[in-house]
Amino acid sequence: MRRIGQFPFIRTYLAATVAAGALTTWAPSLVSTTLDEHMAQQDLPRLSQYFSTAQMRVYDRGNFWQVPHSTFLAADIVSDDFAKKPVSTSIALAAFNFSALTRQILPSPADAYAMGTDESFTERKCYVRPPKRVPIHEMVNIFTDLEAKSYRFNGDPSKLADLFYVYIMAHEARHCDQMGSRQMTLLHETDADTYAIQLLRHIYGETPELREFENLLPHLRVIAAVAHGDTSHASDRALDRTQHTVMQAVDDQLYYTRLTAVLREIVRLNEDLFDDADTDYERTARYYHAAQALLADPIGRNNQQLRQAAETYIAAMDDLAARTDDTLIPTLPNGARLVTAGLASSYLPAPSRIPLRPAPTA
Ligand SMILES: [Zn+2]
Repeated sequence: MRRIGQFPFIRTYLAATVAAGALTTWAPSLVSTTLDEHMAQQDLPRLSQYFSTAQMRVYDRGNFWQVPHSTFLAADIVSDDFAKKPVSTSIALAAFNFSALTRQILPSPADAYAMGTDESFTERKCYVRPPKRVPIHEMVNIFTDLEAKSYRFNGDPSKLADLFYVYIMAHEARHCDQMGSRQMTLLHETDADTYAIQLLRHIYGETPELREFENLLPHLRVIAAVAHGDTSHASDRALDRTQHTVMQAVDDQLYYTRLTAVLREIVRLNEDLFDDADTDYERTARYYHAAQALLADPIGRNNQQLRQAAETYIAAMDDLAARTDDTLIPTLPNGARLVTAGLASSYLPAPSRIPLRPAPTA
């Protein structure tokens, strides 16, 4: 059997990971800057005063050292679990390392995250991977998998892009303050969105751009939830509430999961109308037509939750489609309409080979 030391890549890689352990304690500036320095470099407002975590640092996106650095941090966070569950903890850590590596090699402008310890706030260290600074239309496309070359906004697009960036940084910094609280992901995400928006209002006041951003964000969350299954970030229904309960979060998550399941079946019932390729972009349009077909069917009309969820998805897509000259929602071939009759038809089972029992004789 060849030993690990005979593979130069793995040897180098492990050495780098171990070296990063030292970086964590004595040279975090090799991979990161403080949150306030980072925001100042971006010409954006400082944020650290609005958060309880004492040490918030921001990774340099292009710096490859954040892979071993964040892996070491992850290992430190789960160190107590190694004794109790060595195999599953090791696999989780390897998976984390793989995703960190993937983010470095194939970065997406919105691949931001926060990772920190759950010590007391005064001791707590947290690292944020920031998003890439991109024009607002690009950020909209990344959240939705749409592909418009531009969108029209009432406000200044560059101010909107700034707001978007500050929002993501505030959202991630809020995750730092949540570390150690074990609750449903959607509750944490809702809290992070709510707090980030409150903070934007505090910093910027009621500007036209902020109002526009506040209308835009729920639409992006809805499209991501319905068309791409990201229901753990479906905060749109919760943003108007002042209190959030576990049951509300469970209902919010199921609200879109259920719609997605029905839309997927409508698309399946009409698969002859579509090409084989089902890209993320095409799915947004297919589900749009499926949502309209659902509203035209008594199943959709008579089920208040399904109807409202479908209407919300259609409104979100309509809003973005009205903001661009590109075709976001291609019409169906030859003006075809999706049929929904199959939703209520009985399942046709395969033939049964179980012998019938002879009828009892009287
Ligand atoms: Zn989040």
